[in-house]
Amino acid sequence: MKNVVLLGSTGSIGTSTCKVAEDLPDDIRLIGLAAGRNAKLLREQVKQFSPSAISINCPDAAKELANEFNGKPEVGYGEEGLLELATLPEADIVLIAIVGTAGLQPALAAIRAGKDIAVASKEILVMAGEIVMAEACKHGVKVLAVDSEHSAIFQCLEGNSPESVRQIWLTASGGPFREKPADEFADITVEQALKHPSWEMGRKITIDSATLFNKGLEMIEARWLFDIEMPRVRVVVHPQSVIHSMVEFVDGSMLAQLSTPDMCLPIQYALTYPARATSNRVQTSLAKIGRLDFEEPDADRFPALNLARRAGEVGGTLPAVLNAANEIAVEAFCAGEINFPEITANVARTMDAHELVAQPSLDEILAADAWAREVALAPS
Ligand code: NDP
Repeated sequence: MKNVVLLGSTGSIGTSTCKVAEDLPDDIRLIGLAAGRNAKLLREQVKQFSPSAISINCPDAAKELANEFNGKPEVGYGEEGLLELATLPEADIVLIAIVGTAGLQPALAAIRAGKDIAVASKEILVMAGEIVMAEACKHGVKVLAVDSEHSAIFQCLEGNSPESVRQIWLTASGGPFREKPADEFADITVEQALKHPSWEMGRKITIDSATLFNKGLEMIEARWLFDIEMPRVRVVVHPQSVIHSMVEFVDGSMLAQLSTPDMCLPIQYALTYPARATSNRVQTSLAKIGRLDFEEPDADRFPALNLARRAGEVGGTLPAVLNAANEIAVEAFCAGEINFPEITANVARTMDAHELVAQPSLDEILAADAWAREVALAPS
């Protein structure tokens, strides 16, 4: 039985994690839940899972919930609430599924308190992967991947030495605009960008999947999670999203992990690791799937990939700048303030204007993040 704290319980990953906890009541106990604004769903989750503590990012809602539940569970709010949850003495593992970078400090606090962490929020590894992994190593805790691609790589790597790996292959669905001509990109609407061909996910990651920034962020995430240099992190488009990623070994052999796309599977594996728990939720019929296709990603139509590769290779504060500028640009696109190609253009411009700090401290990373948020939408 693992005691799990779930940060971001009301989102897409959060609700899938609740399904996994429902499936495996003897393996997983949700003892802490944190939400952003959705008090209604958090309330239902409290009734279902009886956690010992919860948090919400809104003082009024926290007060209301505290009155209603009368100390059981304890109710916190804001950053402090997240930190309290992340360090709950009885927690074994903290799953971070908060969109964006608000999960960074709770992740570090959990690590320093000796908890394993399961990371869905790839943004925190993009921003501060070196620091997070170094802290985890220092405190002897595991950083487990929730992203389906990284879970796949983790599973393919098991039992193999780092020297035996030639490169890793992240698969990309290609997103909704895989076949769209570049001259139509300026007319893409938010609704079109939110229609992902194979995954149902939160808003930000769905837009990131349309620009391919999601794959770019995942490249940097993989670089840190698996301690592998950027040139050995490769991307191949695989529209069916059945192969979740692959490892190519020095002898030319490739191992892949396959299943129908369902985030419950990598979430469950991260939470039950090293065990595999029996579950009937994910069933894969290869005969029904019929075929698996692959193609080269088109870096001209999707410049996000090369921007991310550059950020990952240069390192220092540049990945934090790429990540923050992208977050701001995605919000602006969703608000109708910029068009689709301008998301990537704004990120590129912000990266070009940045004065790099090569070996940054956490404070310097946070400063670079704040700077990028300020300038990402400034007129050029
Ligand atoms: P959603 O937008 O669906 O959910 C985000 C969650 O974060 C919600 O529970 C939201 O609360 C919560 N939240 C936001 N701000 C705060 C805050 N300050 N304090 C506490 N909670 C907060 O996103 P997803 O679930 O899709 O994605 C979450 C992360 O997982 C992202 O980093 C994404 O890249 C990654 N990921 C997602 C995948 C997916 O399939 N969805 C796959 C792989 C990775 P509320 O709703 O109450 O406001």
